[in-house]
Amino acid sequence: MSVIGTGNKVPQSGIYECIMCRNKVTCVKGDRCPPCRKCNCTFFKLVQATK
Ligand SMILES: [Zn+2]
Repeated sequence: MSVIGTGNKVPQSGIYECIMCRNKVTCVKGDRCPPCRKCNCTFFKLVQATK
């Protein structure tokens, strides 16, 4: 399981889930991870990798 923090570069494109409220966001490799829009949590885990 891969966890990334807000402001860090996304290591793998895919769907990430907020570890607090489980809000899902799509992140693209190389972009910076945003804060959760629902709860402002700053950590997300990868739930579905895409290419
Ligand atoms: Zn959240």
